[in-house]
Amino acid sequence: MLDNTIKQDLLSLCPTAEFDCPMAQHTTFRIGGPADCLINPTSKDELLAVLRYARHNGIPVTVLGNCSNVLVCDGGIDGITIMINSGMSRVEVCGTTVKAEAGITMSSLAQVCTRASLTGFEFASGIPGCLGGGIYMNAGAYNGEIGSITKSVDILDEDLCPVTLTREQMHFAYRHTALSDRSVVVLGATLELAEGCSTQIAAQVSDYSRRRRDRQPLTYPSAGSTFKRPEGAFAAALIDQAGLKGATVGGAQVSQKHAGFFINIGGATARDVLELIKHVQDVVFEKNGIMLEPEIKIIGRR
Ligand SMILES: Cc1cc2nc3c(=O)[nH]c(=O)nc-3n(C[C@H](O)[C@H](O)[C@H](O)COP(=O)(O)OP(=O)(O)OC[C@H]3O[C@@H](n4cnc5c(N)ncnc54)[C@H](O)[C@@H]3O)c2cc1C
Repeated sequence: MLDNTIKQDLLSLCPTAEFDCPMAQHTTFRIGGPADCLINPTSKDELLAVLRYARHNGIPVTVLGNCSNVLVCDGGIDGITIMINSGMSRVEVCGTTVKAEAGITMSSLAQVCTRASLTGFEFASGIPGCLGGGIYMNAGAYNGEIGSITKSVDILDEDLCPVTLTREQMHFAYRHTALSDRSVVVLGATLELAEGCSTQIAAQVSDYSRRRRDRQPLTYPSAGSTFKRPEGAFAAALIDQAGLKGATVGGAQVSQKHAGFFINIGGATARDVLELIKHVQDVVFEKNGIMLEPEIKIIGRR
């Protein structure tokens, strides 16, 4: 909990700061207890001022994008939660190079690329996160990965110093990067795309979005695939083969449409999801000897 002096200081640094803000209003899972303080920075300077203040006063900070890959626990989040989204979403196109701030959504960036007749980003158009989250997670779909089109990534390092990392320094791997175990902030990235035909790019984007609508339970809140793809197998197939489609704990359910997705069928708590994760892990392990590892990030006070 933050005292009144800290709240006043935070409001003077960021007038839109909110306190005791239920994260269920922000997560795509529609689950999550209150963030002590929630900030949506509108510029790099505002972000830096809040980060410096937090560091100076020993306040914990959690950095998020569009909250589409997180399970926020029912107890909420300590300290300051920073959502880097629409307030930091500027983008510049120069030839085949696209430089964007971390808060732009993948779908908006896909529209920018389509309008500029740039191909290579279509695979990401339906991923419901921001570029910063996509870089952090090395998000991917339809045989594409953010890492493979990234030229460089701008971050604030652990000392809040700006650093630019090349693709090689990012060590992009399956849902993992050099940032995965570090407390850094992704400010933006430079992507290298190729010239294409905007009609064909738009057709590819709409084909991917039709495939998502056909195969994914998009009418329910979720955080996408719950588990990472295990070596040599698919999590959804293992869960399906274990007879777990439709398995339910409280308001959390293994989707009938796509067993890799856990959905919120109404009033799910994080505790429900955590119990369902454990149940699915146990049953799949018993049947196949494979321990599924969560892809979603579990954060906050349990
Ligand atoms: C319906 C649905 C479909 C999905 N399909 C896909 C898919 O096809 N492929 C795929 O890879 N994922 C998919 N996802 C998961 C998710 O959209 C991606 O992982 C996305 O990249 C997460 O971005 P975000 O901005 O929402 O990140 P968040 O969920 O907000 O955060 C995820 C992680 O990134 C960190 N993070 C976020 N922003 C920053 C930043 N600026 N600086 C430092 N750290 C940061 C957070 O601390 C957290 O650890 C899907 C999710 C849903 C709900």
